[in-house]
Amino acid sequence: MAQVIYKGIGSGDGFAIAPAVIVHRGELAIPQNTIDKEEIDHELTRFDDALNMTTKQLNRIKNSIAKSMGEDAASIIDAQIMVLADPACVDETKRIIQKKNINAEYAFDTVIQSSIEALRNSNNSTFVDRIQDFQDVRTRLLANLMGLKHQVIPAVENESILVINHLAPSETAHLFGSKYVGLVTEAGGFTSHIAIMSRTMDLPAVLGVENITENLTDNTTIIVDSMIGQVVIDPEEKVLKQYEKQRKLYAKKMEFFFEARDKPAVTKDNIKVTVSANMELPEEVLLAEHYGAEGIGLFRTELLYIQKEDLPTESEQFEVYKQIAKQISPHSAIIRTFDVGGDKFGNIFHQHYEPNPFLGFRAIRIGLMHPDILKTQLRAILRASHYGNLMIMFPMISLPEEMTLAREMVEKVKEELRAENQPFDENIQVGAMVEVPSAAILSRELARECDFFSIGTNDLIQYTLAADRGNPRVAHIYQTYQPSVLKLIKFAIDSAHFEGIWVGVCGEMAGEMQAVPMLLGMGLDEFSAVPARVPVIKKIIRSLDMKTARQIAEQTLRFTKHSEVISYLNDRLAEIIPEKYI
Ligand code: PEP
Ligand code: MG
Repeated sequence: MAQVIYKGIGSGDGFAIAPAVIVHRGELAIPQNTIDKEEIDHELTRFDDALNMTTKQLNRIKNSIAKSMGEDAASIIDAQIMVLADPACVDETKRIIQKKNINAEYAFDTVIQSSIEALRNSNNSTFVDRIQDFQDVRTRLLANLMGLKHQVIPAVENESILVINHLAPSETAHLFGSKYVGLVTEAGGFTSHIAIMSRTMDLPAVLGVENITENLTDNTTIIVDSMIGQVVIDPEEKVLKQYEKQRKLYAKKMEFFFEARDKPAVTKDNIKVTVSANMELPEEVLLAEHYGAEGIGLFRTELLYIQKEDLPTESEQFEVYKQIAKQISPHSAIIRTFDVGGDKFGNIFHQHYEPNPFLGFRAIRIGLMHPDILKTQLRAILRASHYGNLMIMFPMISLPEEMTLAREMVEKVKEELRAENQPFDENIQVGAMVEVPSAAILSRELARECDFFSIGTNDLIQYTLAADRGNPRVAHIYQTYQPSVLKLIKFAIDSAHFEGIWVGVCGEMAGEMQAVPMLLGMGLDEFSAVPARVPVIKKIIRSLDMKTARQIAEQTLRFTKHSEVISYLNDRLAEIIPEKYI
């Protein structure tokens, strides 16, 4: 195969060069064949073999999830194993093969589709929640019957690059600590969940690469260039050499920034800001420490909810938050209440189809409608706050009233805990994410209800520009440095300061090199980004003085076009940091 280049959206830093492992999950075309009487036994054996193979695969996945994420997370796979053991499914498939002289694929599909239909029509949310398990089992077993490649992410023993059409949030966790060194997906934009996870794991990725899974074969050497969003398939010798050279340069660049890891984020004129890390899996607190984070600026708690069949209990959550509080001490950790919805679906809340999930039942909207679920989480956070320095943050606040209600809930939970003599931090700070334009516009009023703000630029950009953050087709509209977005950020920062509270940014923008001088100059108090970006942000802050930063921010706010902002910020960055390290 000759060298081919694909373009996509780069996510992360650096390059990966390794053989590809392809996982394609297209809709399966189910063959329908009449079989002769003599072939029936063979067909039954084929079905039994596929059943065994699928059960073994599921058990393997269960064990590997148990190892990396614990028994609870692994129990999700039990539900799928049970589908395969159900006589109603197995016996009925065999009966159809025998009675109708039909091939195993068609017989099994008929049976499982009618079970899915029955679940769908049941109007019982517990049953509806199980549809995904049936669908996963259907795809896996049919793929095994048809001898197709596995639909799951295979474990690999050597360094490999995963090329996949779509990756569910719960699956990204499989990549943590694995031998995968790069990621290519057909779906996803720069701030989609997949992108954020890949950056957290320091995994170079290119997303939104159309049709790549269909035009690539397993084991082909590929290069993932996350810096320019390019995938090179079967690279020519000279291209490979070039990339090897760049890889070395990249290692030097990392050294240059890494030097700032354990130093404070203080400007040349002695203004100190905080540089924290975002995290999602409890294990990532180690990454945060490794990269010198001065706290956790955002702990996304959704995975506790979406990886499981049941809601996480108070004590399960308490253990996780307590561990983080202890580990990150003396620094603080901001625990964001569950932000389920948007592109982070769970079995628990999403019984109903929503045509616009990003504009729908998401985050605090769910929490206020289901106070028991939110209260359980708040109890766990508050109890854990006794063991370190925790803060509570509410996502997707669009109105100041939502914040008032959320705070009232915090107060109620505090009263309960006092009555139970449970210790907690009485002075725990409670803040809001500013990620919906209405919250930014009313940020003065909102600030009066908060102890701090954290600006979620990922969502703020998508909602300001009405461009889905995960859709590569509108990626040209979803632009970080659009003046409309910058003005909202500046206004939110000023509002926070006017009302005497501190303000951070925990969206991906905080970790972009070009953005750092501008955000610093706008008066930001805290930057929170994926762990690997912490030393980079510190180094840039340490190379600046506030006068320069303010002047950069002021000039940036005068532009009317994204392209003007970006080229100005790039030029200024080149003056601050040696160009070869940008
Ligand atoms: C954001 O929207 O910027 C943010 C940090 O939250 P999330 O990416 O989890 O939506
Ligand atoms: Mg958000």
